[in-house]
Amino acid sequence: MASKFMKIFVIGFTLSIATAFAQDNKNHSEFIDGVYKKCLTEGTTYQLLGELCEKFPNRLSGSPGAEKAIAWTKEVMQKYEFDNVFLQEVMVPHWVRGEKEQASIATGSSKIDLAILALGRSVATPAEGLTAEVIVVKSLEEIENLAPDKVAGKIVFYDEPFAQEFANTFRGYGASVQKRVAGASRAAKLGAVAVVIRSVGTGDDDFPHTGSLRYDEDAPQIPAAALGAHSADKLAKILQKNPKAKLFLKMNCQTLPDVLSYNVIGEIKGSENPEAIIAVGGHLDAWDTGQGAHDDGAGVMQSIAALQTLKSLSYKPKHTLRAVMFINEENGLRGGLKYADLAVENNEKHIIAIESDAGGFTPRAFSFKGADSSVAKMQNWIAYFPNNTIDAIRAGHGGADIGPLNKADGTPVAGFIPDGQRYFDFHHSPADVFSAINKRELELGTASLASFIYLIDQEGL
Ligand SMILES: [Zn+2]
Repeated sequence: MASKFMKIFVIGFTLSIATAFAQDNKNHSEFIDGVYKKCLTEGTTYQLLGELCEKFPNRLSGSPGAEKAIAWTKEVMQKYEFDNVFLQEVMVPHWVRGEKEQASIATGSSKIDLAILALGRSVATPAEGLTAEVIVVKSLEEIENLAPDKVAGKIVFYDEPFAQEFANTFRGYGASVQKRVAGASRAAKLGAVAVVIRSVGTGDDDFPHTGSLRYDEDAPQIPAAALGAHSADKLAKILQKNPKAKLFLKMNCQTLPDVLSYNVIGEIKGSENPEAIIAVGGHLDAWDTGQGAHDDGAGVMQSIAALQTLKSLSYKPKHTLRAVMFINEENGLRGGLKYADLAVENNEKHIIAIESDAGGFTPRAFSFKGADSSVAKMQNWIAYFPNNTIDAIRAGHGGADIGPLNKADGTPVAGFIPDGQRYFDFHHSPADVFSAINKRELELGTASLASFIYLIDQEGL
C-alpha cells in the first residue's frame, strides 16, 4: 500500500514540477514576446540616441560634451523614475585634438592633401608642422628588423591592411590594431620623427579612424596619426614612384591635467534580494570625431532603455537592476576601474555585469565569462528569443568596462554581440554618426538585453 501510495505521490509530484516548468517556460516566452513587441513598436532607444548624438556629439573624457552628456543621462533616468540615480566620481585624462590636423605629400610640382586624424594621446608636431621622408613598413614585425639608420629622421608609414580574412571582424581588429597601440614607440626607438598608420577600419572610403596609442616609458614620444584608406592608397602609390617624396604633418593635440568626471548609474530596486545586482552598461565617452553613435552611444542608451522597457511592462525584478554609463573607456578605462574599486570597497554583490559595446546592429549572441554550468544553463534560453535575434550564448569575453569588476571580485560578465560586419566601417571615425543607426536593429538590441536581464533575474546563473 505504502509503496503504491508513494508511487502515486512521486508521479503526482513529478507532474506538478513538470507543469510548473512548462508554466514557467510559457510565462518566459510570453513575457519575452511582449518585450520585443514593446521595443519594436514603442521603443525609446532610437529617440534617446538621436538626442545624445545631436546634443553631445563630442564626448571625449574631460570635454564639455562629456560633462553635459553625464548630466543629461542622469536626468533621463530621473525622468523615467528609476528608484535611485547617482554619480560616481572619477578623475579622467583630458586629451584634446586642437585644430584640425593637416597632412600632405609633395609630388613633382603638386601637393596632395591626405585625410588624417591624430591618434588619441598623441603629442603634437612642432607648431609649424614637420616634413620628412617616409619609410613604409607592413607590420610591427617588419620594423623590428630594420636597422636604425633606415628609420632615423623619417616618418614611419605602417601600411598594414585590416585583416579581412576573419568572418568575425573583432578578430580582424585584434589582429590589426597593434600598430596603432604600439607603433609610435617602436618607431621612436629607431629614431623616427613621427608615425602614420593605415586606419584600422574595414570601409572602402577615406574616413580616418582614431583610437588610443600607448607610449613606452623608454622611448621618445613622437606624433602619430591615422590615414583614411583612400589617402593611405594614394600615399603608398606616390611613395612607390618617388621614395624620396616628403610628407608634411601638422598636429597640435595635447594632454591637459586630469579632470573630475563621473560614471552615471540608475537602479530599479529588487523586490526579493535588493542587495544582489544585475548590471548592464556601456561607455558614455566617445571619440571627438563623428558622434559616437555605434561606439558607444548605442550601448549606453540600450542599457537605460532595457531597464525602462522592463519597468514599462510593470515588471518587478527580484534583484536590483542597474544601468551603468561608464566614463573614459576610450582613453584610460578609469570609469571601469573606479566602478570595480567601489564595488569591492562597498562590498557590493553582482550576480552579473553585462556590456553592450559592439554597435547598434542586429542582435546575434551573448558571450559569457563565468562558470561552464552557467553557459550550459543559459543555452537552454535561446528558444525564448525570437528567430533572427539571439541564436547563441557561448563562452567568451564580457567587455572592456566590466573587465576590471570581473578581475576584482570574480563577477561573471557577459557581452552583447550584434552583427559585426559593418562595425569597423564606423568605429572611431567621422562616419560614426546617428544616420548610420537603423531603428529596428537598435531596438532589437534593447529587447535582447532586457530579455536576457529578465531571464537572469528569474532563473539565476
Ligand atoms: Zn566602445
